[in-house]
Amino acid sequence: MKTVIIGGGLAGLAAAFKMAGRDEILIIEKEPEPGGIASSYVIDNYHIEKYYHHIFASDKELISLIEELGLGKKLEWRKGTTGYYYNGKIYPMNTPLEILKALPLMDVIRLTWLVLKAKGIKDRTLFDEIKAKDWIIDTSGESVYNNFFLPLLQSKFGDNKEKVSAAWLLGRVQIRSNRGTKGERLGYMRGGFAALIEKMADAIRQKGGAIRNGQVSRIEVENGYVRGVDVDGVTIKCDRIISTCSPHVLEKIINTKLLGCDLDITYQGTACALFGLTEKVMDDVYWLNIKEEVPFGAIIEHTNFIPVSDYGERLIYVTSYFQSPESVLWQLDDEGVIDMYLKGLEKLFPGFRSKVKWWRLRRDMDTAPVYEVGYGKKVLPYKTGINGLYLAGMFSEANYPERSMNGSVAAGFRCVDAVLTEGIL
Ligand SMILES: Cc1cc2nc3c(=O)[nH]c(=O)nc-3n(C[C@H](O)[C@H](O)[C@H](O)COP(=O)(O)OP(=O)(O)OC[C@H]3O[C@@H](n4cnc5c(N)ncnc54)[C@H](O)[C@@H]3O)c2cc1C
Repeated sequence: MKTVIIGGGLAGLAAAFKMAGRDEILIIEKEPEPGGIASSYVIDNYHIEKYYHHIFASDKELISLIEELGLGKKLEWRKGTTGYYYNGKIYPMNTPLEILKALPLMDVIRLTWLVLKAKGIKDRTLFDEIKAKDWIIDTSGESVYNNFFLPLLQSKFGDNKEKVSAAWLLGRVQIRSNRGTKGERLGYMRGGFAALIEKMADAIRQKGGAIRNGQVSRIEVENGYVRGVDVDGVTIKCDRIISTCSPHVLEKIINTKLLGCDLDITYQGTACALFGLTEKVMDDVYWLNIKEEVPFGAIIEHTNFIPVSDYGERLIYVTSYFQSPESVLWQLDDEGVIDMYLKGLEKLFPGFRSKVKWWRLRRDMDTAPVYEVGYGKKVLPYKTGINGLYLAGMFSEANYPERSMNGSVAAGFRCVDAVLTEGIL
């Protein structure tokens, strides 16, 4: 039997890793290297992710995979400091005391009540039908919404912020509120997550699997059975396909209707710049949320999280989600986006431009589903109604209510479980 996996991101790699050796595996990836959204730049002699990445202690599948691959020693848990920029000042927001300094007392009391309430909710199903905004205002009032949640929702979902469900919010609060009195600990692989991707790819090849560069333009289905894929004008016959590409792409390349699957899932894109700098920009803030008119949603000073000695220079990400291909962040050329970002950076940090040694810009259209009201019902199944067609990725249940590297690894594994349940390997 032959399985083709469309996409060599973490979901595709995880599925291939679990299936290789039991079946003939071929991953087809349209980019020159595997890794997808978790892939890295090679700058001089080091790797750095194209989009900022860290993990949480609750990321069980990913952590055990890192250990299984013998990379456990590279995983470190470090303080991930956060700050909040408003009224021309950065407020640290790591400990309850710092939050107390940044927000009015009544807001802190109401916010604490919201967090306690959110943590007590075990079944989020009903909250899929409620807007996060409405639930926040009902629970803690307008002021907490405007002062605390609005800038976060704006930076995460832009124009879609008012559509997001309370189920998503509850999931986020439950993951992010376990920070104790000293602040939150975040995980990172020293040397970068590139080592994880490389090790997975090596293990797949060692077990007889192959990873090939190419773009799948067609999935051939005949009489309800998968027959093969077209890649750059060549047909590759196969018995099974695991598709990890976004629902819009899948809808375009499959030659039949996928009954029972709603592929109309709203996704958003990301434009993420990485700057190499001569000097640090912020004092001990890794993650900065911003309440100010600037063309980006967050600034992530990576070398305030991982020691600068790993790189020999300061690294800072400046990022924004965008909601449609008409956005200037998608329409402008790279220089145009960087120029826009630099103007905003100069506003917050005068003299920023003079610290820049180099920059890179990464943009992708389908980087995250928008977890809008009703999204829970759109989560796509691992096994579809077409014989031999399976799905795993950001749209899977393992990635709900928030997509992550862990979620995509878990989705890849669970998708293979669905194949195994069929007893066809
Ligand atoms: C800005 C940003 C920051 C993030 N930060 C974190 C973080 O801190 N922690 C965390 O855990 N997660 C983070 N994530 C999320 C995480 O990186 C992703 O959820 C995960 O890597 C997605 O893996 P995937 O395999 O499901 O999808 P993808 O990585 O998108 O993989 C799909 C692959 O399919 C390929 N493909 C698509 N169409 C075709 C085709 N027709 N033919 C062939 N190949 C095709 C694509 O090129 C891609 O490589 C972040 C994401 C973004 C955008």
